[in-house]
Amino acid sequence: MLKLKNPALRRDACLIDGEWRKAANGAHVMVRDPADGSIVGHVPDLSASETQAAVDAAQAAFGPWSKLAPKERTALLKRWFDLIIANADDLAALMTAEQGKPLAEAKGEVVYAASFIEWFAEEAKRVYGDVIPTPQTDKRILVLKQPVGVTAAITPWNFPAAMITRKAGPALAAGCVMIVKPAEQTPLTALALGVLAQEAGIPAGVLQVVTGDSRTIGGVLTKSDVVRKLSFTGSTEVGRILMGQSAPTLKRLSLELGGNAPFIVFDDADLDAAVEGAMASKYRNAGQTCVCANRLYVQAGVYDAFAAKLTERVKQLKVGVGTEEGVTIGPLIDDDAVAKVKDHVADAVSKGAKIALGGKSAAQGGHFFEPTVLTDVTTEMKVAREETFGPVAPLFRFETEEEAIALANNTEFGLAAYFYTENVRRTWRVAEALEYGIVGHNTGLISNEVAPFGGVKQSGLGREGSKYGIEEYLEIKYLCSGVG
Ligand code: ADP
Repeated sequence: MLKLKNPALRRDACLIDGEWRKAANGAHVMVRDPADGSIVGHVPDLSASETQAAVDAAQAAFGPWSKLAPKERTALLKRWFDLIIANADDLAALMTAEQGKPLAEAKGEVVYAASFIEWFAEEAKRVYGDVIPTPQTDKRILVLKQPVGVTAAITPWNFPAAMITRKAGPALAAGCVMIVKPAEQTPLTALALGVLAQEAGIPAGVLQVVTGDSRTIGGVLTKSDVVRKLSFTGSTEVGRILMGQSAPTLKRLSLELGGNAPFIVFDDADLDAAVEGAMASKYRNAGQTCVCANRLYVQAGVYDAFAAKLTERVKQLKVGVGTEEGVTIGPLIDDDAVAKVKDHVADAVSKGAKIALGGKSAAQGGHFFEPTVLTDVTTEMKVAREETFGPVAPLFRFETEEEAIALANNTEFGLAAYFYTENVRRTWRVAEALEYGIVGHNTGLISNEVAPFGGVKQSGLGREGSKYGIEEYLEIKYLCSGVG
């Protein structure tokens, strides 16, 4: 049974216009623990009209919020940040219960999530405009930055807190208001963040959290011409649907979609560092992140040594329920996730790959899968093209730098890529040739609040975090003033 120090964080109602509301007809969605299928809680299954009430409240809240002095928004966001940190243990416990990740990782995510609120609280004060020298002496040309207006966020289950704060932080800092629709699997963390936003004094309607059927809620949010921007993190498939639905109202869009990250290890790499990078990039969150290494390309000269070292290191991972001491790999999110991982392994093995480690359900059964290393992997296999989203490291062999770059870029995705080399010239060649929004050189960990996160090609549009992140929530207004 999940016990929280602050039981008020656990909600079974949505935050709409400063009130905690349930569906009028009592409809709700169960939230289950992916470790054992037990019920962790339930949240409202809102109707379209109940969702519309949030849009109306957002519209009413926008004016006053956008007119606050930036410094006042900073103060409120900082209070929210402080409360998230103060309640980190409870937020982590909720997250592990509904998402499955090990408690230490959940706590890490809470701190990471909070960092976006702190960063954008500070950035709120630095939304500079511009004065442009004019070609006509009787005019002055100015650039004003103004908030986009009412915005919406649709977020995934793999980072139940950080994917919300990475959007809500810049939105609120810029003077926008936001309606958040968390993933069905992980609404409890989202609602708890709502409790803390309210406690911080963020006014009614500025940050709202709505739960329920994604099509119903997504439909209301995308059709509305009051909602001027949608920020979505999730699959490329759903991103395309939402982009289509947003076309009639020409919404601004930020889309953080799927990845198929290559992880390249050159002959001249520091192999121990590359193994550690691969561990961090591949097995974090049981392989369920869009920046997880999905395809590991290892140069022929170090292939066997890397495979052996990685396998030894992966053996040290401990599979189990996220609340157990020392567990590093929790369950996968659901049956579909397990089925996909099994299918990718079976497909690879049927085409000649060898299982160096793992390859099957873990002893715990259910959604638990053994951390896996596959060798002799080739481009014909599904793991070369599709995101596995599980704890499987497929090792491909390559001969030349040109070949590695061509293989790495041979995908419609372009989110994160990693490579390991000690050679400076090669570093620049490879970094510039990789068609990705994020490149990690000699590191497997690239995410933080100060750097721009986002993809190219079909991995999405826009950037989150960093000084660039707030621009996604700002419109440029050109003011031409006649002074003659
Ligand atoms: P994942 O594969 O990570 O579950 P999805 O793209 O399916 O990714 O889900 C990400 C988010 O998008 C979740 O909040 C989910 O509820 C939402 N979602 C899924 N389908 C739709 C849809 N048709 N309209 C709006 N939101 C959707």
